[in-house]
Amino acid sequence: MASPQGSGAPLEFGGPLGAAALMLLLPATMFHLLLVARSGPARLLGPPPYLPGPEVLWSPQMLLLWFTWLGLQAALYLLPARKVAEGQELKDKSRLRYPINGFQALVLTALLVGLAVSAGLPLGALPEMLLPLAFAATLTAFIFSLLLYLKALVAPASALAPGGNSGNPIYDFFLGRELNPRIWSFDFKYFCELRPGLIGWERLMLCCLLVLAVQDLRLIIGQVLINLALLMQEAELRGSPSLAMWLVNGFQLLYVGDALWHEEAVLTTMDITHDGFGFMLAFGDLAWVPFTYSLQAQFLLHHPQPLGLPMASVICLINAVGYYIFRGANSQKNTFRKNPSDPRVAGLETIPTATGRQLLVSGWWGVVRHPNYLGDLIMALAWSLPCGVSHLLPYFYLLYFTSLLVHREARDEQQCLRKYGLAWHEYCRRVPYRILPYVY
Ligand code: NDP
Repeated sequence: MASPQGSGAPLEFGGPLGAAALMLLLPATMFHLLLVARSGPARLLGPPPYLPGPEVLWSPQMLLLWFTWLGLQAALYLLPARKVAEGQELKDKSRLRYPINGFQALVLTALLVGLAVSAGLPLGALPEMLLPLAFAATLTAFIFSLLLYLKALVAPASALAPGGNSGNPIYDFFLGRELNPRIWSFDFKYFCELRPGLIGWERLMLCCLLVLAVQDLRLIIGQVLINLALLMQEAELRGSPSLAMWLVNGFQLLYVGDALWHEEAVLTTMDITHDGFGFMLAFGDLAWVPFTYSLQAQFLLHHPQPLGLPMASVICLINAVGYYIFRGANSQKNTFRKNPSDPRVAGLETIPTATGRQLLVSGWWGVVRHPNYLGDLIMALAWSLPCGVSHLLPYFYLLYFTSLLVHREARDEQQCLRKYGLAWHEYCRRVPYRILPYVY
C-alpha cells in the first residue's frame, strides 16, 4: 500500500482502517484478559464474565496513583546518570543524547517502595484495582498521543519519522509522526519505552526478595503493583507464594532487569530509530506491557498450579537457553554497531553495503536473520509453562508475541531491503531462515 502523501513510506498495519481497528481491539483485548484471568473458567476465547461499568473503571484515586507513579519515574529519569549515551545519527546528521540511568531508577524505586511498605503503606488491595488502573493508563495513552500528534504539527520536517506521516490523521495518530519528541532534554519515547511500564510490570521484585529474606512474609503482604502484588496476594491467600509464581516472577524480573541494565541497547532498536511516537508505542509502553505481560501471575493468583521440582528445573533450563540466545544476539549486534573493530566482534564475517555499514553474517546473526527474536520466544514459552497446560489463557503472551515478532520481522526486512538493497539480498541468500532454523 503506498502512502498518499508525506514521506512516501508504504502504509503498514492495514493502513488507516487497520490502525483504527487496532486502536479499539488492543484496549478491548487488554480489558478482556484482565477480566477472564480472575474468572473461574479463565477461558481465553470465551466471553468475559461481565462487562465492567464506568463505576468499576473510573476511579479518581487510581488516576492519582497512576500520575504519582509517572511523576516518580519522571523524577528518577531526571536524576544524574552514570553515563550519557549518543543515539544513532539522525536525518540532519545530528545525534541526540540519552541518560543511562534506568537500572538506577529500578533500584531506587525498589528502595522507596520497600521503605513505604515498612512504614505501613497499605498496598495489599492492588490486584483488586487493576481494572481502574488499566483504565487510567489507557486514558493517559489516548490523551498523550493526541498531544504528541499536535506537537508534531509544528515540528520541522527533519524531526519526523519515516512512517506516520501519510497525511491520514487516524493512521498518523496511531503510528506517530515525530521520531523523537522532546521538551528540552526530556525524551518522551525513550522515557516511556523502558520505565513506567516495564518497571511497573515487574516493579520491585528485587525489594520483595530482599525484604522476604529478612522478614516474616506476613509483614510485607500488601505490596505494590502487578507481579509483585500478585505474588504477595498469593502469599496472603495460601501462606506462601507457589513455586510457579516464584518462577514467573523470577524470569520476568530477569527480563526487566536485563532490559534496564542494557538500556543503551534500546537506542539501536526499531522503536527508537524508526517508529514515530504515537498511540501504538504510547499505549504499548504505558498500558499493554504492564497489564497484559503480568497475565501469567494474574492467572496463577486465581488458579494455583502444582509444579514439581523436576519440571521446574526443566523450565528454568528453557528460560536460561532463551536468555543466552537473546542476550548473546542483542549484545553482539550492539557491540558491532557501536564499534565494528571491538575485539569481541572483529573476527566475525561481514557483508559490506552501499551505505558504508556492514551486515554480520556469522556468529548469532549467521544462524538466523533474527536470533534475538528466537531467544525472546523461547523465554516467552518458559514464562507460560509454570501455569500448566489446563488453560490456554497463560499462553496468550506466547501466541501474541509470536505474531508480533513475525510481523515485526517482516517490517524490519522491508526496511533493511530499502536501506541495503542488493547487500540485503545477499544476506538473505547466505542466511535463509528468519527466526527458527530450518522452519521459518
Ligand atoms: P533488532 O534489535 O533485531 O534490530 C533490527 C536491526 O538490526 C535492523 O533494522 C538492522 O538495523 C540491524 N541488523 C539486522 N540484521 C543485521 C545483521 N546481520 N548485522 C548487523 N545488523 C543487523 O530489532 P528490534 O528493535 O525489533 O528488537 C530488539 C529486541 O527487543 C529483540 O530482542 C526483541 O526480541 C525485543 N523486543 C521485545 C518486545 C517485547 O514486547 N517484549 C517487543 C519488541 C522487541 P541497522 O542495520 O540500521 O543497524
